[in-house]
Amino acid sequence: MLGLMQDWPLLCHRIIDHAAINHAERPIVTRSIEGPLHATTYAEVRARALRLAQRLDKDGIRLGDRVATLAWNTWRHLEAWYGIMGIGAIYHTVNPRLFHDQIAWIVNHAEDRVMLADLTFIPLLEKLADKLPAIERYVVLTDGAHMPQTSLKNAVSYEDWISEVDGDFAWKKFDENTASGMCYTSGTTGNPKGVVYSHRSNVLHGLMANNSDMKGYSSRDVVMPVVPMFHANCWAMMFAAPIAGASMVMPGAKLDGASVFELLDRYKVTCTAAVPTVWLMLLQHLEGTGSKLPHLKKVIIGGSACPRAVAKVFQDIYGVEVIHAWGMTEMSPLGTACTFKPEYAALAGDARLDIQQKQGQSPFMVEMKIIDDAGKRLPWDGKTSGRLKVRGPCVARAYFKEDDGLLDEEGFFDTGDVSTIDRYGYMQVTDRAKDVIKSGGEWISSIDLENLAVGHPKVAEAAVIGVKHPKWDERPLLVVVLRKDQSATRDEILKFMCGKVANWWMPDDVVFVDEIPHTATGKIQKTVLRERFKNFVLPSAAAAR
Ligand code: AMP
Repeated sequence: MLGLMQDWPLLCHRIIDHAAINHAERPIVTRSIEGPLHATTYAEVRARALRLAQRLDKDGIRLGDRVATLAWNTWRHLEAWYGIMGIGAIYHTVNPRLFHDQIAWIVNHAEDRVMLADLTFIPLLEKLADKLPAIERYVVLTDGAHMPQTSLKNAVSYEDWISEVDGDFAWKKFDENTASGMCYTSGTTGNPKGVVYSHRSNVLHGLMANNSDMKGYSSRDVVMPVVPMFHANCWAMMFAAPIAGASMVMPGAKLDGASVFELLDRYKVTCTAAVPTVWLMLLQHLEGTGSKLPHLKKVIIGGSACPRAVAKVFQDIYGVEVIHAWGMTEMSPLGTACTFKPEYAALAGDARLDIQQKQGQSPFMVEMKIIDDAGKRLPWDGKTSGRLKVRGPCVARAYFKEDDGLLDEEGFFDTGDVSTIDRYGYMQVTDRAKDVIKSGGEWISSIDLENLAVGHPKVAEAAVIGVKHPKWDERPLLVVVLRKDQSATRDEILKFMCGKVANWWMPDDVVFVDEIPHTATGKIQKTVLRERFKNFVLPSAAAAR
């Protein structure tokens, strides 16, 4: 017997309909790429998304076609996502920080037909255009007055283009499993992989993110997504905020400490999210200016491990709750959040920070397991670490144009992370499987050592890699970038770390560098570091010879 409930497909444009009807006047503020601050509302965003949908439809963009966006977080980009999805086409967010050849590769692989791009990226696209034969039209996300002279094919300003239609249009109807968005990830080896979200997965994921033990937005929140829309589906914020009817503040292209602070303060932002690097810049700004954060309640930190010192300063000095979150592009992307179950809720001080180093608990719709090399499930004891696998309706089962083959026999996806899970279900990433340091047959967590090193007041950033060792196979080498105008010695850093981890985990040496290389999504490029230090001779290795 089937249930007798209505058939109401989970389609993304229903989210913007809901926000426009029930939270019509809620402000959406942007630091525009042209410069001035711009304000709109959910009602206007929906109306203009419909115009964009109509305009795309007029150009022959159909169900399943891909429309690329190369853009910062702005109201126009938000409209674009909903307009594109509303006719069953697919927004494809392109990360401008990728190497140029990679950008060309993914745009061609995705077979994008239209490119919507911010003014910032016009020179880049002009350089690449010859390599993008399938793009039929470039739409510059600006108005006629700011439209640059450009050689790009059929280039038009977004405002002129959407004003060519009257907006009298209805969303198209299709199945909830229809693809809605696309984001390439370059986490693994080889070419980037296309992750394809469906309408259903984005709606479910938006609801999941609003769980109060995840991000938990409400209509009283002012949400600022600092994480760019071209990173991992913007951590669900473009769905979760309108579902909740939360006001939004879009930072545009300026993500430095002073600019982020200005928006947080001026618009009384209550909740924001980004990678640790952004928060390090903000904290430096606050320290330098003596500013405070009286309105901010929650900061979500993910993408890479949240340094303990960052969590401590936010909480102890500024009274802002830190939510350490973990996920990946293939998971839509949220996987876990470190909020407090009753078992941990009473903890304070260092004991609380210890728990916050974990990536946290999984919400309903994310199932986790850790396994050993033979595929056997490992215990949730907070000590045993193994490969982390996940399952759920917002987790990828295949990459675009690749054969099915991502899942194990139980339907789990291999995250490539190594982690522990404790008895209360709190997951802690100890490493990427390929970054773990294997010393004498045991594993050393590079992330733990990095977190510890950045706790030193003179250390701005740290990376730990395994370096060949004649006796132990590999031993950890700590690579450090010092804070501006600071100097330190190897022994000073090691002394600080000593006693805080097992002795055999201690790095065998420390090197100071000006810069640590990062990927386009802000993660440390360990492959580059390993290459650079592949012939490095550790003092202990020399002695063992
Ligand atoms: P991406 O798909 O680019 O978001 O990368 C996903 C990967 O980033 C994960 O598999 C982890 O290795 C890493 N990652 C994301 N969040 C965290 C976190 N909070 N702590 C440690 N690693 C993280």
